[in-house]
Amino acid sequence: MSPPADMLTFEKARQRILAATKPVTNVETISLDAALGRILATDIVAPIDVPGAANSAMDGFAMAADTVSADTGATLVGTAHAGHPFTDNVGAGECVRIMTGAWLPTGTDAVVMQEQAQINGQHVALDAAPAPGAHVRPAGDDICRGQRVLAAGSYLRATDIGVLATLGQMSVPVFRRPCIAYFSSGDELQPPESELGPGQLYDSNRPMLAALLAELGFDTLDLGRVPDDPQALEAALERGESADAIVSTGGVSVGDADFVRETLAAKGNVDFWRVAIKPGKPLAFGHLGGTGFFGLPGNPVSAAVTFTQLVRPALARLAGGQPAAAQRHQRQLAETIERKPGRTEFMRGQQLTSDAGQAYVRALGHQGSGVLSSMGIADCFIVLPADSEGAAAGSAVNVEPFAQRLWA
Ligand code: AMP
Ligand code: MG
Repeated sequence: MSPPADMLTFEKARQRILAATKPVTNVETISLDAALGRILATDIVAPIDVPGAANSAMDGFAMAADTVSADTGATLVGTAHAGHPFTDNVGAGECVRIMTGAWLPTGTDAVVMQEQAQINGQHVALDAAPAPGAHVRPAGDDICRGQRVLAAGSYLRATDIGVLATLGQMSVPVFRRPCIAYFSSGDELQPPESELGPGQLYDSNRPMLAALLAELGFDTLDLGRVPDDPQALEAALERGESADAIVSTGGVSVGDADFVRETLAAKGNVDFWRVAIKPGKPLAFGHLGGTGFFGLPGNPVSAAVTFTQLVRPALARLAGGQPAAAQRHQRQLAETIERKPGRTEFMRGQQLTSDAGQAYVRALGHQGSGVLSSMGIADCFIVLPADSEGAAAGSAVNVEPFAQRLWA
């Protein structure tokens, strides 16, 4: 069953949002200390070989392999430590005591581990002659000069910082951090410091959005709680236009107090506002000038699901990076799921392992889109395609763990 004509499939909505999102272009050069989690703005090409010269992978004895044998052993002529090379030439039948990381002395091409050699005064007996190149790390073993080690658009992880440090980089060019404006909307929403009156509830979406944006490491602009009032919404959108994108929750559906879509249409343009995703069907996407606008549904689980599935990948692209493809695997279903086809569904699930070691997954009992606490009990989404009529116990379903890599 395909969705109604004015409702986009989940895949199409994701594509449309990604295609409409332009990366920031401003570049700043920052200290390596501050670069964790930033997006690299240029390719990094190695200016040096790493390691710079052949060195020992073991503590032992360096020698020229074809000048020694188990019968002859070798004559000890010196010592090489990491950072303190042995600078004389090593002749045929000679060896140098060498520590891990020390440069290989001129005239040598192999290392015998100390466990396979015995020192007796100046003579070193060998269990066996080494093969040429044994226990030697050649120059450029890790990185060769001129090699591209990191590509523009890479998300800088701790190990990338290590690679940049290996090349002697003190600073790194990264894209400017995007600034994302966000607000929640709804007359019923209250701040935590107030007593709840009739019909009111605490605003959970706005702190949740702030945290979801903080996970991405973006700058944010908090536009507050906005009442269900077109003028107030207009004012919020005007303030948000200075940001790179605006994310809101609530007021995008078809109720009498849902004004977000019409306000967006009046101030900018609406690309689409219905997506065949469950939870989360009403989702307005459009622009105010060059600023992307994501109007998420008010139900907190819908807001969380649409943010992670549709907004987050776009924001990763906005930042100049590459959103990671969702990591999914198949799991056997513990209990039958029945459902109406029509929308791609992200059910909250729990992955379990039986005593016999069988891995399976089950959908949590209460899938209401207002039941935010269930996100803490679940550890994955069970992803059912739009045409699925459910799945029988024992059949395989797609599982998307909550713990996901966000950047490619
Ligand atoms: P709406 O999308 O505005 O129709 O809201 C759908 C449901 O989500 C309603 O029950 C709202 O009270 C609830 N809701 C909307 N915004 C929030 C919010 N920021 N925090 C908690 N619940 C909300
Ligand atoms: Mg509302």
